[in-house]
Amino acid sequence: MNVTIDPRAGFCWGVVRTVEIAEEMLRDNPPGTVFVLGNIIHNPQEIDRLSALGLRTIGHADIPTLPPGSKVLVRAHGEPPQTYRMARQHGIEIIDATCPVVTRLQERVRKFYDLGYQIVIFGKANHAEVVGVRGVCNDECIVVSGVEEALERVDLRRKTVLFSQTTMDRQTFLRIRDALKERITELVVEEMQTIATEFHAKDTICGQVAGREDDLRRFARQNDVIVFVAGKQSSNGKVLYEVVHSENPRTYFIESTDELDPQWFDGAETIGITGATSTPQWYMERVRHEILRRFSPTIAVQ
Ligand code: SF4
Repeated sequence: MNVTIDPRAGFCWGVVRTVEIAEEMLRDNPPGTVFVLGNIIHNPQEIDRLSALGLRTIGHADIPTLPPGSKVLVRAHGEPPQTYRMARQHGIEIIDATCPVVTRLQERVRKFYDLGYQIVIFGKANHAEVVGVRGVCNDECIVVSGVEEALERVDLRRKTVLFSQTTMDRQTFLRIRDALKERITELVVEEMQTIATEFHAKDTICGQVAGREDDLRRFARQNDVIVFVAGKQSSNGKVLYEVVHSENPRTYFIESTDELDPQWFDGAETIGITGATSTPQWYMERVRHEILRRFSPTIAVQ
């Protein structure tokens, strides 16, 4: 029997960049002076590793209490403009590790907002990335989670642009786009007039998430059992897990090796390990070793 780690799993380049910036800050500054706003990534083991190096996680309410000159890292999800304003007011230096893919999304939202468009975002309203995006358009946007909500809440008499949180599911995004277009056509026929003179759908889903789907499906089919490793709060973890699970029903989501269950591996000859864009390679190695250590002798190292 074989236990294989998905060769395409591990940090996306945006997360690699954020972690490298954090490590550099920790190297170059005295202990206790480097902070990150919110958990640096949705992965408890990596958070623990970086906090052992001295990274301290804070919330927005802590900013006014930090000594002036402190350095605060903005993680890959980005922040709304008011965070930068608050930091400036309190003499805090922001080290901006917003993923460039998220920065680009923010810039596009700002541009369409300034042009007077109704902004619609497919995403989770309270996800940190969406909070940042909402901030750049003064919260004058509609955040929707699916087709029905979009049809109910979007005013199609206004010129409208649809975006997506970078880690959402592309199929659902396309369904929302198509449903809104269809509704516009129906309204034109029903009301005998031209409405929503403009509707744009901007697919802003990150290629690191969407681009992995085909490979993940293949990997899921190649193995009897899949162990999917990710933080429970990881958005792209949930999306990618659903992709794998739809291809292989013997897929199990874990955040930690404590959750491994021997029954999952009954009769399995091939076991695959994969994860989200925020799952570190070293932790997947640990999961592999745990499976081999605890559920051998029937399982052999590949
Ligand atoms: S998944 Fe994409 S948007 Fe998110 S951090 Fe990684 S590269 Fe950036």
